[in-house]
Amino acid sequence: MTYKRLSFEIKDKKAFVGFGYNCDKAMTVLDEETLKELQDIVEDLHSKEKELDGAIFFSHKDRCFLAGADINLFDTMHTAADGQAGAEAGQTIFNRLEDLKMPTVACVNGVCLGGGLEFALSCKSIIVSDDKSTGLGLPEVKLGLIPGFGGTYRLPKKVGLPTALDMILTGKNLNAKKAKKVGIADEIYAKERLLDLAPKHFKKKADKRSMMDKVQDAATDNVFTKKIIFQKARESVLKKTKGFYQAPLKILDVMEGGVMKGRASYLTTEAQAFGELCIGEQSKNLRHIFFLMEGSKKMDDAKGVGRSLKRGACLGAGTMGGGIAWLMAKNDMFPIMKDLNQHGLELGLKQASSNFSGAVKRKRMSKDDFERKMRSISAQTDYRGFEHTDLVIEAVVENMDIKKKVFAETETKVRPDTILTSNTSSLSIQEMSKALEDSSRFAGLHFFNPVHMMPLVEIIKHDNVSDETVESLYNWVVKTKKTPVVVNDGPGFLVNRILMPYMNEAGFLLEEGVSIKDIDDACLNFGMPMGPFRLLDEVGIDVGDKVSKIIFDGLGARLASNGIGKQMLEKEFLGKKNSKGFYLYDEKGKVTGPNDEAWKMLPKASKKMSETEIQMRIFLPMINEAATTLEDKIVAKAKDVDLGLIFGIGFPPFRGGLLRYADTQGIARLKEEMLKFADSVDKDRYTPCELINKLASDNGKFYE
Ligand code: NAD
Repeated sequence: MTYKRLSFEIKDKKAFVGFGYNCDKAMTVLDEETLKELQDIVEDLHSKEKELDGAIFFSHKDRCFLAGADINLFDTMHTAADGQAGAEAGQTIFNRLEDLKMPTVACVNGVCLGGGLEFALSCKSIIVSDDKSTGLGLPEVKLGLIPGFGGTYRLPKKVGLPTALDMILTGKNLNAKKAKKVGIADEIYAKERLLDLAPKHFKKKADKRSMMDKVQDAATDNVFTKKIIFQKARESVLKKTKGFYQAPLKILDVMEGGVMKGRASYLTTEAQAFGELCIGEQSKNLRHIFFLMEGSKKMDDAKGVGRSLKRGACLGAGTMGGGIAWLMAKNDMFPIMKDLNQHGLELGLKQASSNFSGAVKRKRMSKDDFERKMRSISAQTDYRGFEHTDLVIEAVVENMDIKKKVFAETETKVRPDTILTSNTSSLSIQEMSKALEDSSRFAGLHFFNPVHMMPLVEIIKHDNVSDETVESLYNWVVKTKKTPVVVNDGPGFLVNRILMPYMNEAGFLLEEGVSIKDIDDACLNFGMPMGPFRLLDEVGIDVGDKVSKIIFDGLGARLASNGIGKQMLEKEFLGKKNSKGFYLYDEKGKVTGPNDEAWKMLPKASKKMSETEIQMRIFLPMINEAATTLEDKIVAKAKDVDLGLIFGIGFPPFRGGLLRYADTQGIARLKEEMLKFADSVDKDRYTPCELINKLASDNGKFYE
């Protein structure tokens, strides 16, 4: 028999089964055809039990063993029963693999995730390559799913319950060393020797896990200890997810409920849970985001004209400059960080150092690497070395005249092909481009604060920017593992523009007598990481006020705010930066309670409004504004808005993005709600834009 997806060969009484055979994609996945071929091979192996010494599974692809089940298949599952049947089909094959009497060895080189790891766990031994790409994990929870091919059953058996729970509930990926340490991998070898050494594992080895692990296993292997472990895991999940995410809770139900069950009955509950989660809205939304993220790794309509940007410089060493220098150093760009004086430079270096220290503390970076990366940053007050840079990011004070002056000067110090960018959060990129002789190599590059935590970067175009500049920046942002969104110039660009109604409506609700607590809580209960008042404190009430004015001046009455920000500023309540905003903060920046002085001065809480109404009052104008960014061609597609808000302000991923959320609610219904508020609250702020009207009347969606 010949196979299209798998290779199968018998040599010296050993069976060699290769994945990724004839597959032109970078990643091999378990699609229907691969599973079918695998099933045939496993049955063949059963029939050859007596002839063979053992079977060795490997991949023809470098850096990918098996990347998991084909996620596209999940969309073909329309009922929970479909999902359950899909999971059971895989489980049956893996059970048959596990039931082989002959030795079976999975040789993992590269990515081994989800169904890939579930496959490997069904083999008697797993050996891994020392390649940097090797990573093993069960990331299903990140897609709102439970591993459905027996992973929740087999992983605890191999690594013990606490480690298995940690891996399955977080979806974390372990490198070769960690996989060996926790006991998933039996051995690590150089990738070139993996296949040759696999037969060594035909003799079942003694359990190589450490004594400590075995003691831990023994300690956890009783019903009462298990109960406590599950209780702690549940508490931790609820704390982290605030109960918004169904999958981790379902995983806990299945694993805890299955403690005393045999394989068949356990796996049925796992498959049932998979089926239920797979057709649920949350998993669909999280899968949607997964595909958006995958898609964002390549620029839409890329012409292939991007250049590689190797050396970088940052102008300004303040809050943002230090973070940008850190990012450049992390990506081996030997950055130059320029500021006006030594004091500024020290602040920037402190910022970069604190970002790297985080990695050292989490053992993701050695102390030597830390020293090396910090030494790679040249902190200086002049333009020495700028002629070697490919990319300059300006992050000086937010003032158009100063920025223009800085660009005019910088342009004379760099090569003609150096790309120059501004990190401005509110000034016009079109206007700034006028400062340059050659503006085709200039664009906005808007990072969010703090740079090391916030994944989004807006790349802002102007009329004269070249494709080469935009594409080079896009590729560079992807290389730094951040998420780029290309936007056209306009007040507030994309994210701050859509965020503005979040803050503005909170102010209006407060004026109407709804309490700060009720407003912030309603947004938290929607899934936002911070309520609008907490967010304003975080951004700085002074900064919020400035940006709000720019957006209002540019876009008009629908983006009006009331005077609450000004009232706060008169009392010098700036937010977290001076420890006094709508809330009070301690020296570490933690909220210590409400700012009573401010709350007394602000409108009294006199009105109880339902949480749903508060949410509608706040999110409807955001949806409306998001639609206008499409109308005004600030961005090209709904996905750009959703990526922007998820990665720029932490819009809850389980809702799939603001516009996907709007689609699921029905645009016609949302339009009706807007019209009601336009009558009862304010015409300017709630009148639906043309695109909403059109989609409502065509029964259309933002995502067609
Ligand atoms: P900051 O005040 O912390 O730092 C600005 C730094 O620029 C200071 O160290 C200052 O000495 C230096 N500087 C001023 N003129 C200079 C010059 N001619 N050459 C070199 N250095 C000069 O400011 P920040 O918060 O880091 O903001 C910088 C830019 O980033 C602004 O355009 C701001 O809008 C934007 N931004 C800020 C945030 C934020 O949350 N802080 C977020 C996104 C974007």
